[in-house]
Amino acid sequence: MTKQSFAIIGLGRFGTSIASKLSEAGHEVLGMDVNEDRVEDGRDLVTHAVVLDSTEEEALKSIGIRNFDYVIVAIGNDLQASILSVLLLKELGVKKVIAKALNKRHGQVLEKVGADWVVHPERDMGARVAHQLLLPNVLNYIELSNEYNIEEIVIPPSMSGKSLRDLDLRAKYELNVIAIVQNQELFISPSPDQMLNAGNKIAVIGHRDKINDFVNMK
Ligand code: ADP
Repeated sequence: MTKQSFAIIGLGRFGTSIASKLSEAGHEVLGMDVNEDRVEDGRDLVTHAVVLDSTEEEALKSIGIRNFDYVIVAIGNDLQASILSVLLLKELGVKKVIAKALNKRHGQVLEKVGADWVVHPERDMGARVAHQLLLPNVLNYIELSNEYNIEEIVIPPSMSGKSLRDLDLRAKYELNVIAIVQNQELFISPSPDQMLNAGNKIAVIGHRDKINDFVNMK
């Protein structure tokens, strides 16, 4: 794994959650917050932690912000600070700026001032919860476009003992199975004769409507 460097501005719930995952994965993580208590609380989760106001250009320059591979603006409710920080980071030449938006308008402004990736945690998590409520067998999914998804689906008991050939998902639903997970083991590009057991997971790629048809099949 290539070690990458991340700077995280704002050590609230969102920022610290990102910081700890990246640190656990072995990357270099600098955590920053204007609030000294937040910096103290987050110190053990990151490689370095500093008290810093990201709306101050000189402060950002002094820590060499443009040398980080990614800077994540995880500021909560202060829209002005969030927008100004993204603007300054891009002006200072940071290659990849990721910013958290509170709502649609905020997200649009963040994009306008140069954010490379705007995330909407509440909106996206809400959509995921709804998706999982509607399709309880779907564990995880990636939206590839407005129409196509990759979804991880739990095999129901009714399909136990059948092979991929028996299920014939390509002909019936235009779905391609790209992997099977059996007892923690991952089989990439599985053979059509591979047998499935209840509780196994398959990752399928295909049209969202067809995936729904398959998951809702009786
Ligand atoms: P959440 O918990 O939802 O992630 P919070 O509002 O609790 O959001 O956390 C955002 C953090 O961002 C706070 O700790 C706050 O002190 C910090 N913050 C706000 N403005 C700045 C700024 N200009 N520079 C650095 N940190 C900031």
